[in-house]
Amino acid sequence: MEQYRDERGKPEASIIVEIEQLLEKFDASRAAYHGGDFNGVACRRIVGNANEICQRVMEILVRQNCENCDEKTIKEIVDQLEQTLGLLDAAFAYLSIMYPTDDEKKKARDAVDALSKQWRDIGLSISLKAHVMEVHVCDFHDKCGVGDKEESFIEQGHQIGLKENRRYCGLKNFIKRTESALKARSVSTHSLVMQQKIEVLHASKRTKKDDTNPTLKRVKKDEKKKEIEKQVKREAYVSKRNK
Ligand SMILES: [Zn+2]
Repeated sequence: MEQYRDERGKPEASIIVEIEQLLEKFDASRAAYHGGDFNGVACRRIVGNANEICQRVMEILVRQNCENCDEKTIKEIVDQLEQTLGLLDAAFAYLSIMYPTDDEKKKARDAVDALSKQWRDIGLSISLKAHVMEVHVCDFHDKCGVGDKEESFIEQGHQIGLKENRRYCGLKNFIKRTESALKARSVSTHSLVMQQKIEVLHASKRTKKDDTNPTLKRVKKDEKKKEIEKQVKREAYVSKRNK
């Protein structure tokens, strides 16, 4: 995009707006709480729909183009973009599998190799994250899998802290407030309290409706079909690059 902007020599506000509107259709909008950047969920949605999004982006660029850039060049650049996004999707999908089998470990490695090749080919900078991805992540993945190693517990930790702040915001004395918060935390993690919590949760759980519901069955079948289609797409990106 930046390269494109430089070549045209004027800000392409309308193109950017159009592309952002397009991404919003895929539920990928810049989250306000993430410094105006796309957050992880939005990124997953973008890479997961690489094919469709790139097709539409190309249409926008071709339509808004004013003869400075020929259609062939636009197509080549967008094709590279699609390939990169598709490979990011493939690599992350295989790396998020919990307890991967040997076959899945190999697929992860193939996807990461293809992604690295692509990344270097189009001249993207090798950031720290890119280096970890390129050199280290597969070794960890082979040893113990990285799919269950994630950081949402840190987010959750923030939420517990926020909850305590709300609960004790009436206490202006810092020491008293901290003591109360710690006491509440110690009580709530007491083994008998935890046991009681589990019992209550169990007793109040609604029993799951049976799977004979035809709509539910169809939805599940559709999801399964979509998942298989995604899998095929990912493998196509990887084999195209690794051949
Ligand atoms: Zn290193």
